[in-house]
Amino acid sequence: MSPRDLVAPFLETRLGWPRVDWARAAVATGADGSIPLATWNDLVVGWIEHVVDAKGQGGRWSRGANFHLVELPGDERAHHALRWAQEIQAFLLRYLDGIVEPHASPLPLLLFVQQSDYIDWHADFESNDAGDELASSGGMFINGPCPHIAAPLGLQLESTLAHELTHAVVRHLPLPAWLNEGFAVAMAGLWSRHVLRPSSYDLADHRRLWNTATIQRFWSGHAFRDHSLQMVAYQLAHVLVTRLAGNYDRLYRFANAATFADAGAAAFAATYGEPISRLLVPMLGLGPWQPDPVTW
Ligand SMILES: [Zn+2]
Repeated sequence: MSPRDLVAPFLETRLGWPRVDWARAAVATGADGSIPLATWNDLVVGWIEHVVDAKGQGGRWSRGANFHLVELPGDERAHHALRWAQEIQAFLLRYLDGIVEPHASPLPLLLFVQQSDYIDWHADFESNDAGDELASSGGMFINGPCPHIAAPLGLQLESTLAHELTHAVVRHLPLPAWLNEGFAVAMAGLWSRHVLRPSSYDLADHRRLWNTATIQRFWSGHAFRDHSLQMVAYQLAHVLVTRLAGNYDRLYRFANAATFADAGAAAFAATYGEPISRLLVPMLGLGPWQPDPVTW
């Protein structure tokens, strides 16, 4: 059976795009509720064929060793995207050795020319709380049953890919949102050789905006979806990860032990021998900065 026919019984069209009911596909094709890798790859290929078809004649699909690049529709600005993705993944595997893991299957990269197509695409995943973020970053890693990256085609494509690919290669770890976003911002910055340090003006913003209540939104991850806190949340995450990167051996141990349930507090204390609140003191001064998951 062709991949296109294999996936057809599990397709539903929502907001103009074909979506796969992966749970139903798993029951139908998996021996024990999980899909064998070869079948999985065929389902993904069939699904992409339907996605490309949904764009009429204009869609373009290129296969690389580790990625499916899907342009909706084909666009010159995506010309280097496949090569960038390969190079960025190799960079991440080298730079974050022992923290990141490549995917077992090629990762779909869906690039949308029309902003409205991109919005329709990701709106369907809004209810899925598994690590998605606001689209304001210019793209999303959708950490669902079929992990993939969706992004609008724009001038920032290369740094968007670096940001979202970082999320993709740490998805095996239950990272706190701040550490996950901090890695993504830091790696996109390193890749683009464009590292932004918070200015003194930004520092004033941080000291004004972070307090007993808002810092809990940072630790829980909600601040990254909150328009009033989003910018300072990404900056703070970047600053903290940059500070931790000074000692890679400890960062490696911390990242492999940290969990979102306590924002990494227990792993931090075990690795660094002090409370995680201390990490914020150089930037924010002494304050009520310890994560308190009961309040989340
Ligand atoms: Zn992100």
